[in-house]
Amino acid sequence: MSGYDIRIIGDPVLRQTAREITEIDDSLVRLVDDMLETMYDAPGIGLAAPQVGVQKRLFVWDVGAGPEAIINPEIVESDGEWLFEEGCLSVPGLSWEIVRPKIVHIVGRDLDGNELSFEADELESRLFQHELDHLDGTLLIERLDDDTRKQALKTIRDLQFGAAEQPRAAGGGLTLP
Ligand code: ZN
Repeated sequence: MSGYDIRIIGDPVLRQTAREITEIDDSLVRLVDDMLETMYDAPGIGLAAPQVGVQKRLFVWDVGAGPEAIINPEIVESDGEWLFEEGCLSVPGLSWEIVRPKIVHIVGRDLDGNELSFEADELESRLFQHELDHLDGTLLIERLDDDTRKQALKTIRDLQFGAAEQPRAAGGGLTLP
């Protein structure tokens, strides 16, 4: 087993919508193992498949209760508001205060194809929303207000690792690897 390199903002894979998983096979089980290893090495508490360059609707997490994985996750209900300083392994070293729903109900499948259903609050809820965004090609900076996002993109450009990232509002920008 070996870990992956985590894709960093500016990598186009992070901006694509991941595909539904239609088959659970050994390679998917290996992918989950490798993603968990990558997540623990980082270290982080959640990791979505696009962050390791794999366009599948899958993420892994561990908020202290052991490793978990969910396939084809969907949020079916959300409630409340919660402010939390959120970071991302794909935007290393930075974090922003972001308001999102406080509670979510998420459903999906486990690696045996069984139905999963979690009601999550606060940190775990935030993690689910953040990782699900990754499956839709959305990074946390899209959750910032316009001024904060402009400032964030400038900071990211200044840090070099996101040299190719352009504000979406600009439209038609060329995204380079
Ligand atoms: Zn992230």
